[in-house]
Amino acid sequence: MKIGLVDVDGHRFPNLALMKISAWHKNYGDTVEWAGSLEHYDVVYMAKVFTFTPDDIQSYQADEIVKGGTGYDLTSKLPNEIESCYPDYNLYGIEDTAYGYLSRGCPRKCQFCIVAEKEGMRAHKVANLSQFWSGQKYIKLLDPNLLACPDWENLLGQLAGSGAWVDFTQGLDIRLMTDKKAAAINNVKYSMLHFAWDDPHDMVTYDKLIKYKDVWKGDFRRRRVYVLTNFNSSHSGDLFRVYALRELGYDPYIMIYDKIHAPKETRYLQRWVNNKRIFRTIKYFKDYDHTRG
Ligand code: SF4
Repeated sequence: MKIGLVDVDGHRFPNLALMKISAWHKNYGDTVEWAGSLEHYDVVYMAKVFTFTPDDIQSYQADEIVKGGTGYDLTSKLPNEIESCYPDYNLYGIEDTAYGYLSRGCPRKCQFCIVAEKEGMRAHKVANLSQFWSGQKYIKLLDPNLLACPDWENLLGQLAGSGAWVDFTQGLDIRLMTDKKAAAINNVKYSMLHFAWDDPHDMVTYDKLIKYKDVWKGDFRRRRVYVLTNFNSSHSGDLFRVYALRELGYDPYIMIYDKIHAPKETRYLQRWVNNKRIFRTIKYFKDYDHTRG
């Protein structure tokens, strides 16, 4: 069969589902390529992760077109035999980084997040590391709430045993942190920890960030904390979290819930905080001249 793939979101971040679909078809001897409008395919798979990405309106010649991903439908899932495939990293020319999930699901059901609806409210193990890692130097872990998974110890142990540089790309839930979990995380050779402080009124998160601030390896550049803005928070609540995090030795990173409709000052805040060169030289937002970049 001749298979065409379309990454509707663009190619800036590899689409894991497409890499697995590619691997599954190649295992059956099928030809797989990025779909072009002049070719005819047996099947074209179109994947879209983000709801805000416009659909691809190009017409493809195919006997069947399959659309999937949270950008199309929250309930769409890969069949198990494809989901369990080792990803075809060659599709994106990726040589030394592995991407994947060891667990899925989250019990929190935050209003702004689709994970509970999409993956369920029970964090559960879905794979061993060998399912998507085979010696690469870097691992980008995509788990939404690894610390809520009953198998966290085993899974963190697998990451530690890999000796790879691990980027916990999604927020590790600091509210669930214990001394034992922190020690297991520190056994991992991580390149980046991500936490989240989504609500300025959430003092549990604040207290836990304080409690564990001196535990982590490396300096503040490896302790990033997502700060959700434009969702039930005021500008002063946003600034409070940014300043508090910097004071504690974490690296704040602004996320905007609805960027298109966000107030200008929120977008300027994001530009100031997330541009680390500027953030480290201009101490206060009031001194940041947004017109200069
Ligand atoms: S804790 Fe994180 S993954 Fe879980 S629902 Fe909230 S934002 Fe989503």
